[in-house]
This record gives sequence, C-alpha cells and structure tokens, in this order.
Amino acid sequence: MNSSFFNEQMNHHIRPSIAQTLMSLQARGLDRLDAQLLLLHVLGQAPSQRAWLLTHDTDELPEAGISVIEQLAKRRLTGEPLAYLTGQKEFYGLTLQVNPHVLVPRPETETLVQWVLDVLASKTDEEQHVLDLGTGSGAIALAIKAQQPALCVHAIDSSEAALALARANAQSLALNIQFSQGSWFAGLPDTTTRFVCVVSNPPYIAEQDPHLTALTHEPLQALTSGMDGLDDIRHIIAHAPAHILPGGWLLLEHGYNQATAVRDILQQHGFQKVQSRCDLAGIERCSGGQYF
Ligand code: GLN
Repeated sequence: MNSSFFNEQMNHHIRPSIAQTLMSLQARGLDRLDAQLLLLHVLGQAPSQRAWLLTHDTDELPEAGISVIEQLAKRRLTGEPLAYLTGQKEFYGLTLQVNPHVLVPRPETETLVQWVLDVLASKTDEEQHVLDLGTGSGAIALAIKAQQPALCVHAIDSSEAALALARANAQSLALNIQFSQGSWFAGLPDTTTRFVCVVSNPPYIAEQDPHLTALTHEPLQALTSGMDGLDDIRHIIAHAPAHILPGGWLLLEHGYNQATAVRDILQQHGFQKVQSRCDLAGIERCSGGQYF
C-alpha cells in the first residue's frame, strides 16, 4: 500500500475500511498509536475508544473523512504535535483543549503536580492559596484544583491567547481558577496574597539548544529562556520569597541537566529543604524548596 491508496479508492468510489486506513497510515510512517488517535478524532470517537476501531475494522470510512484523515496524516508526518491536530491532550486524568498558542502538556509535568499535591497534603489551614506561573493551557492549575477543590488556585500567563484557552478549559471542566495576565509575579492582581505553594513549568531550554529543531510547532516563548535556559527560573526564584507564606514551597520544573543549577539558585536565595524529584524516566526533572 502506498500514498496513492486513498486516491485509487476514491477514483473507484470504493471507500477504504478502518483496518485498511490504519494499515495505510502506518505504511506511510505514522506511529500506530498516532494513526489510531487521528482516525478516532476524524470519526468523532473519544481517544479512549481504540477498541472501537477493532470492533469496527470492516466499516468503510465516510466519504468526508477520507480527505480529512489524509490532510491530518500529512501534517503529523511533518512533525506537528498530535495534540494540535486533535485539539486535545490528556493530562493528570483531565482532557484539556490545546492549540498552537500553548505548549502541549507533557507527562513529566505530572511529576510536578504530584509534588504540589504531596506538600499540600500536610497543610490544614482554612484558606489556602496556590499559584501556577506561566499556566499555558492551564494544565497544572486545573489538575491541582481537580484534586483539591477547596484550594484557591491562581494562574498567571503573559500570553492573552494562552489565558483565553486556559479559561476555556476551566469552564468546560467546571473548575474555578483565578486567572490574571502578566509577567510572572507582576501578573498578580493582589500582591498581598501569600501562597502556600508556588509552582511553575517555565520555559527552560537554552536559546541555542539543538533540541529546539524538534519543537518548531510550539510557541518559542514557552520554550526558551536565555543563553543557559535559566533566565526565567532565576527570576521566579528571586521574586518568590515575597509571595510565599512562611513554610510555603516553590516547586519548579526544569531541563534534564539543570537540577544542580536550580538547587544552587534556590539555596542562594535562602530556600530550605532544597531537593529534586525524578520524572518517570528517572531524570531529575523538578526542584524546589521551602521558604521561612
Ligand atoms: N504550565 C504549562 C504546562 O505545564 C505551560 C508550560 C510552558 O509553556 N512552559 O503545560
């Protein structure tokens, strides 16, 4: 089967079956999972319905679906993230809408969310405020709020387009988040609020990093941060103490090789119990500390 498969099918007015379409997409270089998820999307089925494809393997594709899957397959093969093509991504059990204005939420960021939930579990104060800096799609803020509905969760982003999407996600998930726009802490509408935890997955890739060539579809402002990738992390750490409750935590995601540098910066600014956590790949991916 080759790239003319769809055309031939269409010329003869025979529509390909689901099984044939999946084979054809994989023959053209798509991952099996990507092919399945794209096809489910085109057929209006949820991403969790991969078994549905098997039970309908002899169904013919609707005429309209043939050209749509063709277009999406082409875009996927040029490296566009699957989540931008389907418009959604699963994160910490939530289905989030995503678009090219925001970074696609990554599984390693779930490590950061888990850490936030762990440090909050030991707190019992009445009104607790948590802050997510650079919320993007709203992934971190929404995951925390979904797990701990009593928390007052604030989320800031400098991008209006990102905030619009985060707000839409909050609305469709019926989760109440205090959103505001601005650059890091400067986006806080009320600077007297003290947070029990400040969390961020900021841009952390160095400007000349060769990994960037694989990330051409996502917003650069969400990815890079100065020559060593640490400009935003340095800024956040320097300004966080003014906004953290005594004993509150600052927890940050960073690059695979930045844990030592981030721990050093935290210690230089007076943070205590400075430590790192590994992602599922065993890489030190988040660092944080407590401020008194
Ligand atoms: N906080 C968002 C996320 O974790 C966006 C991060 C970013 O744009 N750097 O997905």
